[in-house]
Amino acid sequence: MMLCFPRKGRVRLMLIFLSLIAMCLVVLYRNSDVPNLSGQHDDHSSTVPVYHRSNGRTHYSDDQDRSLISHMKSKFSQQPVVSKVSGMCTPVSPLTKVDINVTQVYPTLNFYPSQRSYWNQTFENRYVKRRREWANLPLKVIVLPHTHPDPGWLKTYDEYYITSVSYILNNMVKKLNEYKDLTFIWAEISYFSYWWDRLKNQPQVQKTVKDLINNGQLEIVTGGWVMTDEAAAHYHAMIDQLIEGHQWLRTTLGVVPSNAWSIDPFGHSSTIPYLLKSAGMKNMFIQRTHFAWKQYLAEKQQLEFWWKQNFNLFSQNQSHEGDILCHMSPFDLYSIKHSCGPHQKVCLMFDFRRIPGEISETMAEQINKQNVQKQADLLVGQYGRLGSLFPHNVALVLVGDDFRYNHEVEWDQQYKNYKKLFNFINANKDYNVDIKFGTLGDYFQEVHKRMRNLNIDKPPTLLGDFFPYGDVYADGRPSYWTGYFTTRPMWKKFCRDLQSWLRSAEILYSLAKAVVTQQGNAQFLELMHQNYEHLTVARQALGLFQHHDAITGTSKQRVMHDYGQKLFKGFQGTKDVIATSAKVLLFQNMTYKQSVDDRQMSETPKLIPDDKRLYYDSLPEKNVLLVSSSDGQKIVLFNSFPFHRQEVARVLIKNPHVRVVNSSNQEVPSQVNPIWSSSAEITDKVYQLNFLADLLPLSLSTFTIFIREKSIDKKSEPSVSVFVNDALDSSLKNTLFNFQVIHNENIALNSPYLSATFSKYTGLLKSLHLLSQDITSQIETKFLYYNSEEFRSGAYLFQPNPVSPILNISDRFPIVHLIQGHLVSELTTTYPNTATTTFRVYHLDGPLGAGLEIETKFDLYKRKHYNLELFMRLESDLASEDIFYTDSNGFQMTQRIRLDHIPLEANFYPVSTAAYIEDTQARLTLLTSNAHGCTSSQSGNLEVVLDRRLAYDDSRGLGEGVLDNKPTNAHFWLLLEERQRTTSDREIPNLSQLGHALSSILNYPAIVMTFEGSEKYFQRKFLTFVQNPFPCDVHLVNLRTLPTVINFNKPSSSSLLILHRQGHTCHVKSHVPGYCTHYPSKMRLSELSHVQVESVYQTSLTGIHVLQKILQLNDIQIQPMEVHTYNVTFV
Ligand SMILES: [Zn+2]
Repeated sequence: MMLCFPRKGRVRLMLIFLSLIAMCLVVLYRNSDVPNLSGQHDDHSSTVPVYHRSNGRTHYSDDQDRSLISHMKSKFSQQPVVSKVSGMCTPVSPLTKVDINVTQVYPTLNFYPSQRSYWNQTFENRYVKRRREWANLPLKVIVLPHTHPDPGWLKTYDEYYITSVSYILNNMVKKLNEYKDLTFIWAEISYFSYWWDRLKNQPQVQKTVKDLINNGQLEIVTGGWVMTDEAAAHYHAMIDQLIEGHQWLRTTLGVVPSNAWSIDPFGHSSTIPYLLKSAGMKNMFIQRTHFAWKQYLAEKQQLEFWWKQNFNLFSQNQSHEGDILCHMSPFDLYSIKHSCGPHQKVCLMFDFRRIPGEISETMAEQINKQNVQKQADLLVGQYGRLGSLFPHNVALVLVGDDFRYNHEVEWDQQYKNYKKLFNFINANKDYNVDIKFGTLGDYFQEVHKRMRNLNIDKPPTLLGDFFPYGDVYADGRPSYWTGYFTTRPMWKKFCRDLQSWLRSAEILYSLAKAVVTQQGNAQFLELMHQNYEHLTVARQALGLFQHHDAITGTSKQRVMHDYGQKLFKGFQGTKDVIATSAKVLLFQNMTYKQSVDDRQMSETPKLIPDDKRLYYDSLPEKNVLLVSSSDGQKIVLFNSFPFHRQEVARVLIKNPHVRVVNSSNQEVPSQVNPIWSSSAEITDKVYQLNFLADLLPLSLSTFTIFIREKSIDKKSEPSVSVFVNDALDSSLKNTLFNFQVIHNENIALNSPYLSATFSKYTGLLKSLHLLSQDITSQIETKFLYYNSEEFRSGAYLFQPNPVSPILNISDRFPIVHLIQGHLVSELTTTYPNTATTTFRVYHLDGPLGAGLEIETKFDLYKRKHYNLELFMRLESDLASEDIFYTDSNGFQMTQRIRLDHIPLEANFYPVSTAAYIEDTQARLTLLTSNAHGCTSSQSGNLEVVLDRRLAYDDSRGLGEGVLDNKPTNAHFWLLLEERQRTTSDREIPNLSQLGHALSSILNYPAIVMTFEGSEKYFQRKFLTFVQNPFPCDVHLVNLRTLPTVINFNKPSSSSLLILHRQGHTCHVKSHVPGYCTHYPSKMRLSELSHVQVESVYQTSLTGIHVLQKILQLNDIQIQPMEVHTYNVTFV
């Protein structure tokens, strides 16, 4: 495909063209949909009001937005334009024809091998037989020199660069130039680009590097910023780091990778092949899979397969056009000891690196005339055995390891010795072996050639993933790498926070830059150009953290803190970008000079994102607002969703007597809650203001908090009631709130759709009742500890002690606070020294009213004991048997089967965003705000691990336990839904649309900014960028400004618009009437407001390959589950 970036056509397509941003429409906005839920559920909410969405909910004062608003309103009452659309749910059918269905085969595997290696006499016999056929099917060997430079692990990213990586890359240029038949591959663009930038004054070296790439000696594989973790990472960040790497390669080297390389992540995800294929990759290599999978696939000669997606029906053809071919390494690791063949002692004779003073396992002797035949025989024996595992008899042999080739001499040692062996083998025709150095691309080229030309077994198709990863090579008994799904949760959460903030920053930046460009405001444009650097820093911090020793929490403690500082720096930058972008969009008369001139700071209006983190490892806090009695306090909210959302915004205020109005001066529902200064004391210094924000698609909206006189209106008083444990009753003093003792044994929190019942004694959930469907499920939450096995639970591994009992810490008497309000009610339960958990319901008739929100805070650092794994268990009466579902990188859901014949720890799976269980009546979904390990330990249960405190190393190279626990927040939604039968029982597992909606709200909360300055600067208080909302099942993954064609550090006028049509289950009945029930098969791309689009091209995932020009903006189609990328060039 050609590498092309459309920028300047002369055609100005005015507003209409807009884009991809704006899609669809009308369809969603039938009578039954958006507004008008009012009055339907009042009977369920006897004592608290319910806030309904309605046509008249929002009025906007700015003239230029008025016509737009009335336009949108008129849409609300129209019937859908797409005639075929109805309320019928169309299931996404699963792929049926597949050779290897992982979910079905996995339970049948051999989990208890008798030895560390699967190579036995059967394998040996097959090899001997194959060897007799070499005259007809010669052994082809590609020897692939490589290194594995972790961007942080035992040392920080920078330390590794200085001590190893810079030497490796410098040596690479010199030695590849010297040895013309030597090859090398490189994956990590974070390092490559850092090194390249330091070659600025050495253009000759840069030219040599380009020559080496062009002549095929050096291949860039994958081209991601890092070799991403595949368990805890979210698909948004996985795509983002791939774009960062690919765009750097495009602008700097003109390189487009087509083969992917993933040799160290601890298990492999089924989402990765989809992303790689969408980015234009043809082939991929994976390494660390469960020992039982390696044996099974090796026995069947199926270590190479076409890796399919469950929803990709169109690829059910035989040609595999557009499919990705995956090669799974047959042996345990990527080092020479494990890679030359099945016999490690022999392989160690062919690692020729000898560095004075370095301790090494190698048993190699220099190749000379005397020993060359003997050594060649040995080596060909190993390579032959390796080749016998594949129908095509092409062997891929890795020669490298972590940080290899850092010494110049190693290049000579490996090259010269292997070269002698190659010469001898190639010259001796009796071997029937053809051997040479090669890249990953060279290997796959040979494989495809043989598949085309020879009558050999073709690769099977495979569906599924490779979690969990279990090894047996290290200890001679199965060890499960399921601890890292949870390890260091505070960083996992911070990473997700950065992802959310960066996404908002990207979208706002792209729009603001287009606006100021079109306005011709040179000063603002300059400001936007300066801010691009913040975006780059944040992109690269987020990208770096997807590395398989970063988000996994498996680096040394001080390295984790280095990552934390980088995340923090990126996070601070995104706040600047968001504030600057919003300012240039909303304010006027604010010249660039004013905004940077200190002398006029008091005059300079400011928007301050309301997320204050004092240090890189502190939890987010909020600013306390002093509301002015004259002007009030303005709050600006950014809705990054391309459709309407309802949010309950929270800010801290000093004066509790307030009211809140929206940008058309209408008062919105609000509620003032007390703040607990300790578990038994309320402060009278600060209060939490909650207010309802109805936000239009892709919009900035201003709300104003006003002080109101106490005496004027009774309603001005905080109207919440506070209930407490008996023991606290007498100690609480605060005139604002009405304190009561909890009398009933059960505490109820009711929303319009559900009633949640809690025990007064434990303060924890007992049951959920769905009101409209009259379904009740007994669901108990518990907080428990596993005692871990010493040295067997560490940063990577998880192994609970089988004889130590599980500690229930939620069976004692907690401190319980209940706040009953008219907007939101919440129950907070504190177990001293363990966890504080808040359960919350919203008295709203949109998605927020549909589930139970759970926030829990914990700090295991306070614990004196070690080797504990804190987890939350949901024990329900759902007859889910041994089936449960977990998400894959937040992109799709996967069925899991609990296997009782393997240990508990082997039944844990990674969860990034969601897990659910179900029976014929109901489904129970747990949505998460960051990655966790998760299982269903018995029918009806779901368990998520919250944190781990481990004294000892688990012998996987880290050399440390995990003792640097931090105060951490974990945030969940619990959703009970009724199941329903449909015409088709076959569909891929997926969340309901309601599940997707709550997951999006959880992962991408609206950005809240407080305003400082004079009101005169406000040019407008409201701004929306789309004239019609997108379909409610289309997630705006990103709108990310691209660099210019020639300069990676400069923003262009093009952005990548990435859309994911999420799909949804048809087997669940929505209990929010009318919510998102209509799905057009096509999307209408209509107008973007305030920005003009010049051209739109559909591209590959990372914007590298141009697929087609989008001319007909009325019939964009994205099939459910698919991610599409468009290059949108603004005028
Ligand atoms: Zn690694």
